[in-house]
Amino acid sequence: MSKEIEKVAIIGSGCAGLTAALYAARAQLKPVVLTGIMPGGLLTTTSIVENFPGWPEGVDGTELMIKLQQQAERFGAVVKFGSTVESVDLSKRPFELKVDGEKMVARTLIIASGAGHRHLGIESEKKLDKKGVTYCATCDGALPMFREQPLVVVGGGDSACEEATFLTRFASKVYLVHRRDELRASKVMAERALKNDKIEPVWDSEVSRILGEEENKVTGVLLRNNKNNEEQTIQCAGVFIAIGHLPNTQIFEGKLDLDEEGYIRRSEGSRTNIDGVFVAGDCSDKVYRQAITAAGMGCAAAIDAERFLAKEDQ
Ligand code: NAP
Repeated sequence: MSKEIEKVAIIGSGCAGLTAALYAARAQLKPVVLTGIMPGGLLTTTSIVENFPGWPEGVDGTELMIKLQQQAERFGAVVKFGSTVESVDLSKRPFELKVDGEKMVARTLIIASGAGHRHLGIESEKKLDKKGVTYCATCDGALPMFREQPLVVVGGGDSACEEATFLTRFASKVYLVHRRDELRASKVMAERALKNDKIEPVWDSEVSRILGEEENKVTGVLLRNNKNNEEQTIQCAGVFIAIGHLPNTQIFEGKLDLDEEGYIRRSEGSRTNIDGVFVAGDCSDKVYRQAITAAGMGCAAAIDAERFLAKEDQ
């Protein structure tokens, strides 16, 4: 890792991080992007993005992120593929980061570390992870183990509806298990899922156990109806869990002001409680959580970092 003092280090390479990189690069700050273990962020786990402005036919999530990276690199952003920040010292400036075991020093930091998948938190989920339990239909849906088999999707948001609809390409049937009797998803996504003949909603139901520990692969789910407490078992080869996200902010605990759910608190645009540290995207946004809002926040964070540096250098 470089021994130079970077002007801007960006943690994360989703829509927020790469848009911040594009703007910071065009301001000739030569930002360094530390992509983390999921270059491109959560959008690379989605299929077609239909609501990113400017793409009337929709755009593949991975393709969008590759193009955004290329756009930032064209103006001088340095993208460190796979580089993971292990710890940060924000107690003095320039800030010190430990990146893949090596020290990196930066005058400003843009945190765009995004969010990861929320888990059900039951023992059988852990035991059967990657043995039929998955958090990404786009990544795993086409695996032979799921083909022509009944599958379960858990959740009632846009992700669950999108995953359920996507999985009908491979599955014999998809059960959409939701804990209420109304979907949270946007109207267009909900309607698309509920209109699909292969999708059967299972309302007011929670997963008590994922079955198949003895066979070492998912064979079904045990559900409990939370209105009448009745139990039912659904046979399935896969359980796709799409119950939202948790912010990737563990390394900032005790170092930055986080809210009770772990999101980084923001004020005056993208500022955090530490001068020179800015934030963008899902790690600080539990309200909008869209690709386009993350991109907008990345733009704002880069402008704020640029102005902060310009003021210091006056
Ligand atoms: P979300 O909107 O937060 O929905 C999470 C769903 O999981 C909710 O239905 C929730 O139930 C359920 N849930 C949460 N915790 C649970 C638990 N412990 N057990 C069982 N169910 C649980 O998350 P998301 O669907 O991932 O969407 C996140 C954001 O990304 C949203 O803003 C969404 O619009 C956006 N998104 C957009 C697209 C698109 O436009 N192409 C695609 C995917 C996601 P309740 O409803 O009862 O709370």
